[in-house]
Amino acid sequence: MSKKKIVSFLFLLALSCSLSACKSKSVADKDILETSQQTNTITWGVKNDTRLFGLMDISSKEVKGFDIDIAKAITEQIIGRDGNANFVEVTSKTRIPLLKNGNIDAIIATMTISEERKKQVDFSDVYFDAGQSLLVKKGSPIEGVDSLNADQTILAVKGSTSAENIREHAPDVKVLELENYAEAFTALQAGQGDAMTTDNAILLGMASENDNYELVGGSFTEEPYGIAINKGQENFLNAVNTALETMHENGTYDEIFQKWFPESDDGYVDGGEQ
Ligand code: GLU
Repeated sequence: MSKKKIVSFLFLLALSCSLSACKSKSVADKDILETSQQTNTITWGVKNDTRLFGLMDISSKEVKGFDIDIAKAITEQIIGRDGNANFVEVTSKTRIPLLKNGNIDAIIATMTISEERKKQVDFSDVYFDAGQSLLVKKGSPIEGVDSLNADQTILAVKGSTSAENIREHAPDVKVLELENYAEAFTALQAGQGDAMTTDNAILLGMASENDNYELVGGSFTEEPYGIAINKGQENFLNAVNTALETMHENGTYDEIFQKWFPESDDGYVDGGEQ
C-alpha cells in the first residue's frame, strides 16, 4: 500500500468510527429492555442510607425499603420470576451521573420528578407522593418553614430538591449541605444545624428510630417520586410504566405500600395515583 493510500485508509477508518462503530458502544445506543431480558438482570440505583426507602441491613447485607420492593416487583413483571434485581448505591448527587454513564439501568431512589431533571433524564409515572418538611429536636423553637431566620442553619443534602427549595422558601436562613442523609442526620444530632430538611417520608423514617426528633410545620412543597431512565429508552420506560400499572391493578403496589407505611393515614405520606 502506498503512503497516500495508508493515510486515506486511516482517515476513512477514523471517520467511520466516529460516525457509527464507536457510537454504537455508547449507553444511548444500548436497548436497556432488550439487554435486561438477555442478561436476566435490571441494575437499579438505590439509596443505602434512607430508612423506609433504601437502607442497608448490616446483618443480612441486603438493602431494604419501599423503593427496593417496588424495584424487585417491576423486575419480576418485566423479566419474569427468576429475573435478578441488582442494586447499586447512589446518593442524591451521584444518581444522574451514574445513570448517564451506564453504571445503572434506572434510578429508584426517593427522586422527585422536576422540570430541571427532565432535561437530563426521562421519568416513569409517579409511584409515590411526598412533600418537603423539617425535622427538629423536640423542644426546638422552630415551628415551620415560615419561622426560620438568618441566625439559624438548616441541614440538607447535596443534589436534592430539598437544598434548592429551602433557599426559595426561607431565603434568609443558612443552608449547610452534606453528602448524604446519614451524614445530615448525624450533623443534626451533633448540633451543627437547627433543623434538617427533606421529604416528609424520609424524615419520618428518622423520627421513627429517634424519639427525640419530630417533624414540624407540615409539608411546604410537592415531591412526586418517579423512576428515572436514560433518554432514548422508550421501550424500557414503557415496560416500567406497564409494570407499575399492573402492580396497581393486581394489588402488589398496595401490599408493598402497606408493608412500609402501615400508618399512612397520618396525613404525611400518600401512594402515587395512577
Ligand atoms: N425527593 C427529593 C429529591 O429528589 C429529596 C430526596 C433525595 O434527596 O433523594 O431531591
